[in-house]
Amino acid sequence: MIYTAENIAEILCAKATLQNANAIIEHLITDSRRISFPATSLFFALQTARRDAHNFIQEVYERGVSNFVVRTGFDTGAFTNANFIFVDDTLKALQNLAARHRAQFNYPVIGITGSNGKTIVKEWLYQLLSPGYNIVRSPRSYNSQVGVPLSVWQMGEENNLAIFEAGISMPGEMAALEKIIQPTIGILTNIGDAHNEGFKDRAEKLQEKLKLFKNCKTFIGREQDLAALDISNGILTWGSSNKNTFIISGVDKRKESTQLNITYKETVLNLFIPFTDNASIENAISCACVLLQLGIDKNIIAERMRQLQPIDMRLQLIHGINNCVVINDSYSFDINSLSIGLDFLLQQQQHAQKTVIISDIPSAQNSEPYEEVAAMLQARNIERVITIGEQWNHYQQYIKDKIAVTQHYQSTASFIEHFSANHFRNEAILLKGARVFGFEKIVALLEKKVHQTVMEVNLNAIVHNLNEYRSRLNKGVKLMAMVKAFAYGSGSAEVASLLQFHKVDYLAVAYADEGVELRKAGIHLPIMVMNVDEAAFETIIENNLEPELFSLNIFNAFISFLQKNGLQQYPVHIKLDTGMHRLGFEQKDLPALLPLLKGNHYIVVQSVFSHLAASEDPNEDTFTTQQSTLFEACCAQIREVLGYHFTMHISNSAAIFRRPELQYNMVRLGIGLYGVDSSNAQQLALQTVATLKTTIAQLRTVVAGDTISYNRRGKTTRDSLIATIRIGYADGFSRRLGYGNGKVFIHGHEAPVIGTVAMDMTMVDVTSIPNIKEGDEVEIFGKYIPVQQVAKWCDTIPYEILTGINQRVKRIYLEE
Ligand SMILES: *Cc1c(COP(=O)(O)O)cnc(C)c1O
Repeated sequence: MIYTAENIAEILCAKATLQNANAIIEHLITDSRRISFPATSLFFALQTARRDAHNFIQEVYERGVSNFVVRTGFDTGAFTNANFIFVDDTLKALQNLAARHRAQFNYPVIGITGSNGKTIVKEWLYQLLSPGYNIVRSPRSYNSQVGVPLSVWQMGEENNLAIFEAGISMPGEMAALEKIIQPTIGILTNIGDAHNEGFKDRAEKLQEKLKLFKNCKTFIGREQDLAALDISNGILTWGSSNKNTFIISGVDKRKESTQLNITYKETVLNLFIPFTDNASIENAISCACVLLQLGIDKNIIAERMRQLQPIDMRLQLIHGINNCVVINDSYSFDINSLSIGLDFLLQQQQHAQKTVIISDIPSAQNSEPYEEVAAMLQARNIERVITIGEQWNHYQQYIKDKIAVTQHYQSTASFIEHFSANHFRNEAILLKGARVFGFEKIVALLEKKVHQTVMEVNLNAIVHNLNEYRSRLNKGVKLMAMVKAFAYGSGSAEVASLLQFHKVDYLAVAYADEGVELRKAGIHLPIMVMNVDEAAFETIIENNLEPELFSLNIFNAFISFLQKNGLQQYPVHIKLDTGMHRLGFEQKDLPALLPLLKGNHYIVVQSVFSHLAASEDPNEDTFTTQQSTLFEACCAQIREVLGYHFTMHISNSAAIFRRPELQYNMVRLGIGLYGVDSSNAQQLALQTVATLKTTIAQLRTVVAGDTISYNRRGKTTRDSLIATIRIGYADGFSRRLGYGNGKVFIHGHEAPVIGTVAMDMTMVDVTSIPNIKEGDEVEIFGKYIPVQQVAKWCDTIPYEILTGINQRVKRIYLEE
């Protein structure tokens, strides 16, 4: 199927100005940062409440894209050599084009929706069915109004089965997705109470989800979700009662597997799956029902279900040997997921040198995918590519023609045999391999060895939280992200790279050295430095950092420094003290400051700002208002002498949504980005960013009355099982958590600390926790124990806990 720009204008029934009507369109893009094949791409300028992609057309055009779908009336004057298609609604146009593309194919299309498990069911069906089918599926969890059309666009004549997931957050969205996916077989994984936002209740949510199955010949779901429906033709349910199409007659959990009996049309299918948790069991049943429905032989189903693999779709970013960063993306290998992995690699700007280690592509039937991979690697300027696998023997030339440095190995074992740590230094490395290649063994070689206490940082959660606050910003308000103190413990360079990618306007750090680290990591956003002293001036200027000037002394010293160095128009920020009484000019200092500002050509005042002392506290709202009134009065005086525009800002995380009238031109987002709502108002759906984990080093039984740890302050009252865990106060696990004040989370249970916390180790009482082993994982804070809870046990605030985690604790970055 080949489309030209002209075809697409016709399909969309749209006006167009075409400089090259025959331009071939192979790729649809909606994200200005994700361009691999500019010459054959069509850019849809989507508009959302937060972002208008028409603003990025210049950037996209400069990167070589010359086909655009834009809103009617867009001024194309500046782009002389491009094709423009004009529509009223660019998102609808994208969806319509995808729907038309979909309609050309007659092979079965499975559509999956539900509250949980969509991606896992999709990926498992792919595992279970790919031996017999050539499957096209949604990349990762591309299931939104934008993700679905991009997924469906991947359908081709070479495929004979498609599997797409559909996710919604508001009434009305599913009808649009149904038109694009046009599923012939449907799966409803489940309807949970989660994600109720946007829906009145569970019933409304169910009704909305069922719209996906409007034209399906059959759809499959749980008895309890569909019981209320008229179970007639085409609706197939599974459950324990005899009324179901698929009768689940036995669920027997063993140590590491579960046995399932499913009765379907008088035959009994006996299965083992290598999982024991309820969610996996449910997802496996959904998959088994689909396979039965497709008429696949019982023995084959049993054989393949036994080999189901866990799904971890997340990319892992790990600190590697010799100052490398390693991105582990070796869960599965297809072209779409490669492009996502490469984008993530390119975000790692701290290293100019990029290496990709890549396996054979199991689904490839001919040379084409290999050629395409080579082109993608070349398009992203990858310097070094290491290929692993026998298929690549035949296709080496594609890589050699396009990449500066190439190496090839027959197998993962052969790579490991020839491995030398010296070959990897100061670079970012992407490992992209199909599961059978066992790239985790390569990851283990490249990973820097440290002790087993790690802090996992969920990058998707940071982006989610960023957007949660962005959605609360008044129109035109800019956002400064606070990445001081190692980005509240999460790691400044990694977090700043992510924020830069997501186009925040400004960054702020406490000290000049923190700013230098960011510049070294390739951050080019403007960076404000808050805690400035004379010794830092040189560093500030060399690294193009912007100082906060907070007193007459520091102001005068900086001006004379600029004078001495022959610098003019240097960007600075003026800090006012309106009640915090930490740093800043007070109103009574203004008579001295204003004459110095007037006509001062050494500096440009980028912003004037102040800090709220108690924005999270409703009892202090009057004080907060007083602060803002004083702030406005001071700004007015400064404006008079400067005579030019400067940015005003006073709001921190809590103020952003508690006091929207105080957003002025910019806000400073700190703790909220890291998943903590300091006001505890729970109006925002923030996600947990940081998880601190360790492992059990040793288990011992101790008789009643014996004592544990230093000074014998932990006494057992019964015969006890005690676990020594690999974390202590030197890691940031406070001594205040000792003597039962704090708890940790193991195997679904809380275990109290017993005795004194030591420097590197802590003992916890695990007597009542079953099946515990040495080496088991222990959560200190994260999903199960919120960091706020740990803060409470320590009689402090989450800020102190997060920033107190020692740098020796390895940070691992996860991205979905
Ligand atoms: C740390 C800091 C912030 C961010 O505060 P949060 O409560 O973490 O949002 C804002 N402004 C200044 C001056 C800060 O020092």
